[in-house]
Amino acid sequence: MMKEGVASGEPHVKLWVWDAPDQTRPTFDEAVKHEFRKTRVGEWFGPSWSTHWFKVVLRVPMELHDSRLLELHWDANNEGMVWTHDGKPLQGLTGGGERVEWVLPKEFRDGKEHTIYVEMACNGMFGNAPGGDSIQPPDPNKYFKLDKAEIVAVNPDARALWVDIWIIGDAAREFPQDSWEQHRALKTCNEIIEAFELGNKDSLKTCRKIAESYFGSDVNSAKVYDIKNGKEPIVFGIGHCHIDSCWLWPWAETKRKVARSWSNQCDLMDRYPELNFACSQAQQYKWLKQLYPYVWERVKKKVAEGRFHPIGGSWVEHDTNMPSGESLVRQFLYGQRFYESNFGSRCQTFWLPDTFGYSSQLPQLCRLAGMNRFLTQKLSWNNINKFPHTTFNWVALDGSQVICHMPPAETYTAEAHFGDVKRSLSQHKSMDQDVTSLLVFGKGDGGGGPTWQHLEKLRRCRGISDNVGLLPRVHMGNSVDDFFDKLELKADSFVTWYGELYFELHRGTYTTQANNKRNNRKAETVLRDLELLATIVSIKNKSYKYPKKEFDDMWEAVLLCQFHDCLPGSSIEMCYDDSDEMYDMVFTTGKKIMDDICKQMGVSEVTSTSVPDGMALNTLPWERKEVVEISESEAAVACGEGPFMKLSYFNPPLTAEFHARQVGRDAFVLENTQLKVQVTGGCITSLYDKVAQREVIPEGQKANQYVIFDDKPLYWQAWDVEVYHLDTRRELPSGETRISESKPHRVSVTTRTDISKESYIETVISLSAAVDGEQSYVEVSSRVEWHETMKFLKVEFPVDVRNTEASYETAFGIVKRPTHYNTSWDMAKFEVCCHKFADLSEHGYGVSILNDSKYGFATVGNLMRLSLLRSPKAPDAHADMGTHHIRWAILPHSGSLGSTTVRKAYEFNNPLKILSGGAGVAVSERPVKLSSDSDKSLVLDTVKRGEDDEDVSRGELPTEKGRSVILRIYESLGGRARGTVQTTWDVKKVSATNLLEDELEEVAFEGGKFKVDLKPFEVATFKLQLA
Ligand SMILES: [Zn+2]
Repeated sequence: MMKEGVASGEPHVKLWVWDAPDQTRPTFDEAVKHEFRKTRVGEWFGPSWSTHWFKVVLRVPMELHDSRLLELHWDANNEGMVWTHDGKPLQGLTGGGERVEWVLPKEFRDGKEHTIYVEMACNGMFGNAPGGDSIQPPDPNKYFKLDKAEIVAVNPDARALWVDIWIIGDAAREFPQDSWEQHRALKTCNEIIEAFELGNKDSLKTCRKIAESYFGSDVNSAKVYDIKNGKEPIVFGIGHCHIDSCWLWPWAETKRKVARSWSNQCDLMDRYPELNFACSQAQQYKWLKQLYPYVWERVKKKVAEGRFHPIGGSWVEHDTNMPSGESLVRQFLYGQRFYESNFGSRCQTFWLPDTFGYSSQLPQLCRLAGMNRFLTQKLSWNNINKFPHTTFNWVALDGSQVICHMPPAETYTAEAHFGDVKRSLSQHKSMDQDVTSLLVFGKGDGGGGPTWQHLEKLRRCRGISDNVGLLPRVHMGNSVDDFFDKLELKADSFVTWYGELYFELHRGTYTTQANNKRNNRKAETVLRDLELLATIVSIKNKSYKYPKKEFDDMWEAVLLCQFHDCLPGSSIEMCYDDSDEMYDMVFTTGKKIMDDICKQMGVSEVTSTSVPDGMALNTLPWERKEVVEISESEAAVACGEGPFMKLSYFNPPLTAEFHARQVGRDAFVLENTQLKVQVTGGCITSLYDKVAQREVIPEGQKANQYVIFDDKPLYWQAWDVEVYHLDTRRELPSGETRISESKPHRVSVTTRTDISKESYIETVISLSAAVDGEQSYVEVSSRVEWHETMKFLKVEFPVDVRNTEASYETAFGIVKRPTHYNTSWDMAKFEVCCHKFADLSEHGYGVSILNDSKYGFATVGNLMRLSLLRSPKAPDAHADMGTHHIRWAILPHSGSLGSTTVRKAYEFNNPLKILSGGAGVAVSERPVKLSSDSDKSLVLDTVKRGEDDEDVSRGELPTEKGRSVILRIYESLGGRARGTVQTTWDVKKVSATNLLEDELEEVAFEGGKFKVDLKPFEVATFKLQLA
């Protein structure tokens, strides 16, 4: 009775197809140029990822002209897009019954033929996994059968009754059995079933009348939400569509998913006036603007009407554990600038429903980017402890706070079931403070968004609340910002959560897809260096054009690759081919910019030079003094603040103080004036700090010991490492060690460690000549040939240091985490994220482990453990197989964790570059710096040109006259810090700004100097307006 008539096959539905070659995704214009061949329902199309364009000629039969609702039903078990005959994309389709209806336009009821096109993508909403397990690597040979292509006259009464009985049935099942509301639901269902007569259309009306007794009479339209009965709404429904920018499909498919999903929403809004839809990720809006101008205009119109809400303020829904502080800043800068320039306003709510944990400085950073609200829900997936709050104030390391709401329905892809509405109250954990909540509904992850079913169900849920009660009152028509506006009034009464929102799941994502993570670290370093140097050159030389477009391209690529399934390593192999290409572009563009800068400076990057001809490039904001190798045979001392440091001759120390020697069978000693390292059996059995007169390695223990674990998570292979992997620890014995380097400035030993028949590690442990005043460290570089299955490789450092907390570098700060398993909350952090260093210190002394490309770490008791490589087989069957180059260092230090570690970690990631030529031409003094008496915990991290400077701007927002430089300084150790910024530039005004470079207040500037005074872990941005 659902269908009053169906027309399929010729002459009503005529089908032709053109199969796009290989995995190409041609545009409409390209596609329609080709010759189409006849096809029919029942034919198969493929393979996976291929595209097929259908020409569909529809002729509505006379007898259906007066039907109340006419739809095209198209189901090929894959994704599709309906296009008009002249190339306008109208609506997305998802097979398997997910979204198979397209409402035929009125003008099609004229007895004539009408042509549309359907673009078929040979992938499902969740890609092309074989069988039922969507995270298995995609099957390259999937074929899809066109099951259905028919004109259907729908009986709206039957459809409405179907939703009626669904929801009243849910009420009968899910309301408490001792409630009259449940009994009445059950009784209503029975009455409907008794009144229903198969084949009798009038009985549908009778049945609906009975349903009305439960819902009230207004559920057939948005009017149901206008009912005023003195009750306040509790649950606020917001349509949403989570589209992973890449995951089980590549970027190229995401671009189409965006167009399909958002077209659907524009269409649905025309039919459901209550629908408000929020969607994040500026990148996706940019793709739409570039590739689908028709849909873009449609979306823009809905944004202007206040129905379609750009949200989140960031470039993508990025990972927050691994990106550097500056990367997080750029996520906001690029995101908010896109929104502001295209929609006239910035976002107020930071939106990361699906990201795998939230680093501790986010409240500060998103606040500085104009957002003081945050939405997530991912912590509901915690596998050990239940997160205790729904609505709370989340406090950053520096004390800034934002309101955080975690929708109690515990999903961002709700199907808008009765149960979702019910759980929005029953799972609410902060009801003492505020009872309201958001219900984020709509098909997601693979895109889609709300369907008409969702909207119909919610109308009925509202009807139940108003007519029967018990179900929390759901409301539609508000924005997320409206919801937070009301919460804000009560913010003082909310409980607080300090520091990171650690996600107790997906702990493997700090390690999986090592190459991608290494590229992220490297790209962040390159961009930092280039922006600094390009700024200096562009101020010095007006004819030099600050390469803003190139920087934008590079940043947008890096930011996109920080997407929460890309950088964490949870995507399919295709996505990493894509991100490799993107990083290639970043490094190639970076090299060109660097070459240009060198040309401007009259220098060139070289691999070998001599002391009189050479220089070292230091892009870090402090004086460095290091021994650098300037040729195969020669080393020099580079000293100065840079950016261009002079070289001086390196006078080899006495051999008694610096050497490598064999002291026994497979036992070696490397020694400089500060450290004495004993390597026995390939491991460090002693590390003696001669200055502090202290042994670092506990007696009988071995540092730099490789260990391997079975790594078999319960389900999410690329994502999860489970606590029980720790029980499978196995030490890898090493082969013979030999002295591999014995130069006046550096000595090394090399060891080969077999992992299995296929895999091995070649490890070089080095000690450089110590430089007075600089803390020496033991450097390790390894080459790993890795061909394992579900194994986890780590390297251990037992240290003679005692503390209940270890410290880990995070974005713009340090996060402390327990070194014990006292409580389940402590134990849950058995694998954590760090950036360039992890540190275990006690009063007076400590040890830092530096790394150049790793993010996973664990410290238990006095055992520090750096995570190196994993080998999951899903969703990428080849993740991390092959060769890896990894560097780390053991840095003992006097005193507790301090600027020595922070600086050495930067230096370790930013080795001095050797330059030659142009002596005297180069800038030898930094044009902007922190004075030498500034507190050492201050880090001048970023130097860049102002976004809207007239000689820099690309015109997206109004330009500003003159030239400016942006400086970002943060306090890196967690204490108040003062300093003075000195500049030789001709500065006329200095302002403190937010991250978006809005000037907040003028800063006193005199004699080329201004003072900075930062709170613990504060991030401060200044704008220097040049004369
Ligand atoms: Zn996601």
